[in-house]
Amino acid sequence: MTTLLPAKFGPYGGQFVPETLMPALTELEAAFVASREDKEFQAEFDRLMATFVGRPTPITHARRLSEKLGGAQIYLKREDLAHTGAHKINNALGQALLAKKMGKPRVIAETGAGQHGVASATAAALLGLECVVYMGCVDIERQKPNVHRMELLGAEVRPVTSGTKTLKDAINEAIRDWVANVNNTHYLLGSALGPHPYPTMVREFQSVIGREARAQMLADVGRLPDTVIACVGGGSNAIGVFSAFIDDEDVELIGVEAGGSGIASGKHAARFGDPSKARVGVIHGTRTMVLQDGDGQISDTYSISAGLDYAAVGPEHSMLRDMERAFYTSATDAEAMQAFSTLCKIEGIIPALESSHAVAEVIKRAPKMRPDQTVLVNLSGRGDKDLGTVLSEGHRFNI
Ligand SMILES: *Cc1c(COP(=O)(O)O)cnc(C)c1O
Repeated sequence: MTTLLPAKFGPYGGQFVPETLMPALTELEAAFVASREDKEFQAEFDRLMATFVGRPTPITHARRLSEKLGGAQIYLKREDLAHTGAHKINNALGQALLAKKMGKPRVIAETGAGQHGVASATAAALLGLECVVYMGCVDIERQKPNVHRMELLGAEVRPVTSGTKTLKDAINEAIRDWVANVNNTHYLLGSALGPHPYPTMVREFQSVIGREARAQMLADVGRLPDTVIACVGGGSNAIGVFSAFIDDEDVELIGVEAGGSGIASGKHAARFGDPSKARVGVIHGTRTMVLQDGDGQISDTYSISAGLDYAAVGPEHSMLRDMERAFYTSATDAEAMQAFSTLCKIEGIIPALESSHAVAEVIKRAPKMRPDQTVLVNLSGRGDKDLGTVLSEGHRFNI
């Protein structure tokens, strides 16, 4: 099978799906390739980004945090200010527009914490598409406000009772639905994961983050950042911001995974951080680094932030790591919670717990840098959705 765009990132990526889905992936790839050349499509996407999502999102100079840490100047790319409160809307709107273009009146999505479900339901409401969101029963209990949001937006939330009743099981159910309804349904996948063309397509829809941030750094600061930091769940906000800087060899790219209770505890989602469990494997249609046991069974993962709590990482990140073009580290729950509290009190910004992992890394790094150096942190989302977690678990971390 040949594809229009490269289907692989070095040894990673590919299309590991049932035969019945191959025509849908081929159709999707063709529609995506055509959309990139289609001036009307791009104009419509740009118009919605500006008038609905509120782009460009600003960069904010975190002056007090930079001063307190006494090293590099810290800039925040404010995806928390995008409509629905995170970067996920960029990709959801791009794919929903593609679904319309392909003549598919129904979209399905998976969701863990509910953020991608809310973004998909929002895009579907805006464009008049039917929307079904698969969500594990455990997550439905943990994330009630987002379930209500999706329902208010007109989506149907379907509870998933298989497996651990969390995100990976929701993806399995969404794939099953897609196989059965591929004629009228687009699978609106939420991160830079899954079979080709998803990792490339999701990166392209999220690349607006990096393009804006690069231009804003040049305009406001007069030069590129020395370091760019982003949290990595599936990897879409990170690849979105990294993509604009990959050719700038002097810009250091740092991804931050969920260290949970610490790597040694085994309770984490650090795919690159735990050599005892991380191996190359195939999951949800793609070949990449996966946390697994000796028999190849997917390991259970843990993080205080649901958006980073997944056993695999997008295939392009696996390649960037092998090439040493990007470097990956992790922040524990405790470090992320401290960073969350610091940003609230010092900068007046309540970050998502996912984004707080990236903030934790800049808190470690900035003091070792010079005051004339700069770090750009992608603040992937706002923390309103996490208030329940912070209120119930904050005491464990003295917050
Ligand atoms: C979903 C989510 C993430 C993790 O997903 P990526 O695909 O790795 O970006 C990070 N931050 C926020 C705010 C999210 O909602």
